[in-house]
Amino acid sequence: MSEDTEDRILCMQHCTNQMNIFFSKFPETCPLCGKSLKGCSLIIPPFRVPSPFLSQNDSSCSFVVKPTRGSFLREYKSGDNLHVGITSSNGMVYNFDELGLHADRTGWEQCLVVGITEIKDFTSELWDSRLKQMYSSSLWTPEEYDEHNNNCYDFALGFLNQFLPTNMEPFKKLDFCKNYILPWTIRAAQYIDLFRRVQDAGGVAVESL
Ligand SMILES: [Zn+2]
Repeated sequence: MSEDTEDRILCMQHCTNQMNIFFSKFPETCPLCGKSLKGCSLIIPPFRVPSPFLSQNDSSCSFVVKPTRGSFLREYKSGDNLHVGITSSNGMVYNFDELGLHADRTGWEQCLVVGITEIKDFTSELWDSRLKQMYSSSLWTPEEYDEHNNNCYDFALGFLNQFLPTNMEPFKKLDFCKNYILPWTIRAAQYIDLFRRVQDAGGVAVESL
């Protein structure tokens, strides 16, 4: 099973339109009425619950977020440290940590893409060339990294600030976290909660409407 298939949640209704049945693997019998689900009719046939997560391969020229340790679906708890980066037009994630600034092709298969409406007037060529400029500058080396004072946010916000309209104040870390990242982690938390309830219940969970 691919990671993608493992992490999906499906939803259907069987014998009542008052209860949703969520599952990761199609159950043989209905958890509500106990009848076999083989070949029977469903009030609502299975559909995939929309996930808030995207892979770096599906996000170009974006600000992306993932937990510093582990994954959102399995390990993340509210308040855990987050790691942020910027994707290029072809889905490479530029991110700054104790190893310096690096461009990664993997490791961001389950991330949040934070939309920033203020940044819209740019070409992907300009975006990529600014990323490469920062990549080759001497500002983002392992020696310059500081967990508190010069970390992944300083790089990513420093990058974004080059694209802000001139009448806007540059993004600052605390405000940016509160106004841009937090709404996404709150949205993700609902999906994470549902995912874990399904997993903890052995693959099938029900919820009344
Ligand atoms: Zn049923």
